[in-house]
Amino acid sequence: LNERIPLIKPNDEIGQLSSSINNLLNRLESALKREKQFTSDASHELRTPLAVLRGTLEVLIRKPRTPEEYVEKIQTSLNSIDRMTAITDQLLALARADVGKLHEVEECELMAFCEEFVAEKSQQTGRDIELAYELGMPIFVKTNEKALRLILNNLLGNALKYSEAESPVILRVSKPDSGVKIEVIDQGVGIAEENLGRIFDPFFREKEDYSEGKQGTGLGLAIVKKISDEMGLTIQVFSRKNEGSTFSVGFPTEFQS
Ligand code: ADP
Repeated sequence: LNERIPLIKPNDEIGQLSSSINNLLNRLESALKREKQFTSDASHELRTPLAVLRGTLEVLIRKPRTPEEYVEKIQTSLNSIDRMTAITDQLLALARADVGKLHEVEECELMAFCEEFVAEKSQQTGRDIELAYELGMPIFVKTNEKALRLILNNLLGNALKYSEAESPVILRVSKPDSGVKIEVIDQGVGIAEENLGRIFDPFFREKEDYSEGKQGTGLGLAIVKKISDEMGLTIQVFSRKNEGSTFSVGFPTEFQS
């Protein structure tokens, strides 16, 4: 891959062809580099809880402990296992996003879909989630409902996780000229401007030491991005530190029916 075709006469057809091939090789090379980085990051993320698990069990086996100590150490071990399970589940979701049947679309009426989704999530989480449906009439899009649900689940999950329990979270559906848009709006911790370009990278988390209740793997938004790209949906984010975030999912006009 390190070899490139020498450009002897860059302006003739052969020269242009060579330059296209070289561009392709460059892109292939950076894709391979990203894959390598991803594998290395994923291994690192799994090694940490595995090391904690091993350390905890080694301490337990060294000498007899009180029942309380056993309970505490076993709880630490279970937490490590939960973390590894969360990571592997999301890695699987990410891998499936590549080969899934995302192009199998069906007609979906967004008002009913979002009403059901919000009711289900409010019930599951005990949080008050508002649905702002600005259209006032049914709107049909062609989409893969399962994949859309996965995208919204991740975005809404984050909106709830990165905001206070009493803070409002809104799912807003609107229809600008460019198509249909679903926004997930929160007034939570927000994201620093310099990190906005990185939040969709696998394993990126703004803070590693988020306090209780903000645990995560850093894979949710990578999944959202990958699935959206595959489906031709656009994802945008607006955020201000300590004010809140809005993630929007855009359906281009050709997805409307
Ligand atoms: P996770 O939530 O598991 O860490 P994600 O990939 O879903 O991973 O998000 C990556 C990072 O982006 C989060 O760790 C957090 O720092 C930031 N983030 C995502 N959504 C929000 C949000 N709604 N408000 C504030 N920060 C967010």
